[in-house]
Amino acid sequence: MKIGSPKEVFPGEARVALTPESALQLQKLGHECMVQAGAGAAAGFSDAAYEAAGVEVVKTAKALWTAADVVVKVRPPSEGEAKLLREGQTLISFFYPAANEKLMGAAAKKGASVIAMDMVPRISRAQKMDALSSMANIAGYRAVIEAGNNFGRFFTGQVTAAGKVPPAKVLVVGAGVAGLAAIGTATSLGAITYAFDVRPEVAEQVESMGAEFVFLDFEEEQADGAATGGYAAVSSPEFREAQLAKFRELAPEVDIVITTALIPNREAPELWTEDMVAAMKPGSVIVDLAAEKGGNCKQTVMDEKIVTDNGVTIIGYTDFPSRMATQSSTLYGNNIRHMLADLTPEKDGVIDHNMEDDVIRGATIAHASEVTFPPPPPKVA
Ligand code: NAD
Repeated sequence: MKIGSPKEVFPGEARVALTPESALQLQKLGHECMVQAGAGAAAGFSDAAYEAAGVEVVKTAKALWTAADVVVKVRPPSEGEAKLLREGQTLISFFYPAANEKLMGAAAKKGASVIAMDMVPRISRAQKMDALSSMANIAGYRAVIEAGNNFGRFFTGQVTAAGKVPPAKVLVVGAGVAGLAAIGTATSLGAITYAFDVRPEVAEQVESMGAEFVFLDFEEEQADGAATGGYAAVSSPEFREAQLAKFRELAPEVDIVITTALIPNREAPELWTEDMVAAMKPGSVIVDLAAEKGGNCKQTVMDEKIVTDNGVTIIGYTDFPSRMATQSSTLYGNNIRHMLADLTPEKDGVIDHNMEDDVIRGATIAHASEVTFPPPPPKVA
């Protein structure tokens, strides 16, 4: 089959879904690869590098969409791109089907199959295709780097001839994939790192990374906001109050706050309130990784950096993976090629879209002219 990657059309998107390295792997599965000219340029992959890896470079997006049997992309298709989809073609990209029902319906009507990378079931077998985790890992890392870039001091404490420098104190709120990456980055830079999550089972992970888990003075277990399946639920008002009281205590002490708290299918909970921001020292930095879902901090402005009257920088960027496009594209390209490996079981260049396979079924949102979202729950854990 011909696997093709167009240049992303979303403004500012620097990632690409196919790298020269992933193309080499795809060719081993019996596929041919093609990219639109310039598709990898913003991620550091030149047309010449693709050509050296045996990838055909085509001039226009239209030529690519026409020739490719499988189109691999990062962002969901634009309306214009969706029009280029055709019967029998497969699209593999992030799609967020619950938020893009019309687009999903249009793709199904065209007779195209769509695999949404954000719908890959989070089971052990599918970890190699878990693009949400790949991107969250990068976002967590970059959030700390971005914070450091806006912070006027070292992370690590130092005793120098010119004076003693105290270590920075970092608080990470939410210890999922992005939060754990932020904790790992902050501790490795030498900061004193604290972390909080409503899921008490992450305390051990947090501590094993050299950070201190923040426990609440709350009568019941810290599991009030934890739902089943590893995700969080909405906390009770009492639990939330205990959580906010703890944060109020920490606000004047911490230099950097990275918030990552999300609850599936909901707006992000507001956890870092205006009075906490007001209590922080001038020069402190907040990076709100929940900005796209409304933010964990009320003052966060999506996609912007602001400085409050008391000198606290609040960063609400939502494009951290794109800001590290070489790394993101490499990992995303690997996630995509693992998905294609499962779709090519005989390694003969023939796609077997096996709807009996839990992972393929879970991620497929349109197939055989039908919308196939939402999928049934996976059978295997
Ligand atoms: P997420 O992005 O949905 O949420 C981020 C974190 O915010 C979570 O840890 C959540 O508990 C926390 N949170 C929510 N409300 C909060 C609040 N009020 N205060 C503090 N923290 C709050 O999470 P994610 O990174 O997608 O991970 C979700 C789960 O999925 C985790 O259990 C993770 O280990 C699991 N996971 C499993 C796999 C797998 O393949 N097995 C892969 C990735 C993630």
